[in-house]
Amino acid sequence: MEKKNVWEKYQGMKQQEVFDFGEGYKSFLSACKTERECVKEFVLQAQAAGYRDLHAVLKEGGSIASGDKLYAVNMDKSLILFVIGRKRLTEGMNILGAHIDSPRLDIKQNPLYEDTQMALLDTHYYGGVKKYQWVALPLAIHGVVVKKDGTVIEVNVGEKEDDPVFGISDLLVHLSKDQMEKKAAKVIEGENLDLLVGSMPAVCNEEDKEKAKDTVKANILKLLQEQYQIEEDDFLSAELEVVPAGKARDYGFDRSMVMGYGHDDRVCAYASFKAMLEAGSCEKTTACLLVDKEEIGSVGATGMDSKYFEYMVKELLHATGEDSPVAFARTMMASQMLSTDVNAAFDPLFPEVMEKRNCSYMGRGIVFSKYTGRGGKGGSNDANPEYIAKLRRIFDDNDISFQMAELGKVDQGGGGTIAFILAAYGMQVIDSGVPVLNMHAPWEIISKADLYETKQGYRVFLKEA
Ligand code: MN
Ligand code: MN
Repeated sequence: MEKKNVWEKYQGMKQQEVFDFGEGYKSFLSACKTERECVKEFVLQAQAAGYRDLHAVLKEGGSIASGDKLYAVNMDKSLILFVIGRKRLTEGMNILGAHIDSPRLDIKQNPLYEDTQMALLDTHYYGGVKKYQWVALPLAIHGVVVKKDGTVIEVNVGEKEDDPVFGISDLLVHLSKDQMEKKAAKVIEGENLDLLVGSMPAVCNEEDKEKAKDTVKANILKLLQEQYQIEEDDFLSAELEVVPAGKARDYGFDRSMVMGYGHDDRVCAYASFKAMLEAGSCEKTTACLLVDKEEIGSVGATGMDSKYFEYMVKELLHATGEDSPVAFARTMMASQMLSTDVNAAFDPLFPEVMEKRNCSYMGRGIVFSKYTGRGGKGGSNDANPEYIAKLRRIFDDNDISFQMAELGKVDQGGGGTIAFILAAYGMQVIDSGVPVLNMHAPWEIISKADLYETKQGYRVFLKEA
């Protein structure tokens, strides 16, 4: 049952293709570190590939026909792509679904303060993070500030060569006697994840100096006003995300891997998106869901649990003349989905959390997970063997390398994905994605071979499942 290393089947041109695909991915991952940045980039690429804005098409009362490529943006933070198939919608869709949010630190709504002439921004962490991993490393700020008049100011500081970076301090080892005794969860406290952003007082005349307080903070506010037209109150209506600063890089002497921020789950988002573009128009209608908020439970208007996808499918049915609750139910029940999310790669430094016959390995291809969840499979989508058998056949016929894995040993922990949300419509769903090392750390690792193989697999699924 042991699966072969994927690299062994790539030679010459093929290996070059795998590396070239990795280059495109690295550029994407380096530039797109928030859900908004991902949506923006994917929309640009989709438009270039002939996709039209579904909301605009509907507004103009335009008709929708087989072969049409459409995209629908939800609040700039999630995105759906559709390619209308030759078969009727009620015969089911082939759906890929990834998430484009990643663990990070969000800046609070009243964030800026000064202490001992240092200016700091208070944050609230987003998603599952080991807090001690987010200190003493260069961080960047990405996001938007929305002014009262509706103007949206985009912020991206810390990525360009000459940009400043930010950071959260850790205690020097010399004075860490007490800290070293603490549990890992308490070594760095969530409330102490505050970003140092300045240390220089505003210059003021002698008279003002007497009464001036918080002059370092005042100086930062002055700079924010000059450079971004942001006032202190504007933080109230801002969504600013603190992320690791810097680009995705080749990893290892052999450059077989990529180190980057947010492989979970942008690696599957990228593979899904590229598979959509490559697959073109298929027998069945195909869809690619790129959603927000998975890391905090798929909640909210832009998470998978929102009704947005349902509404868009209903719009398509309406526009193709099959508008009824029954038609919607039939469409969903006849559909098949790959929930495209990452899995934990086996780590030789931490073998104790894995069960070697049922875990995923870097370089052995796309990972299927029949179930995720915790404890007795709690909260998981348990995929049907009939569906798995069909996928095995399609993947084997197309020489796509895949492996089957759980997320870690029984009772060692666990995790979830968006799979169960789509399964609730009565469609076939299974988790499938790329193995990741260091998952949820500021810098995660994937194999270029797994990325390529996953993209190939998703394309085959769209065309043949
Ligand atoms: Mn994920
Ligand atoms: Mn995750």
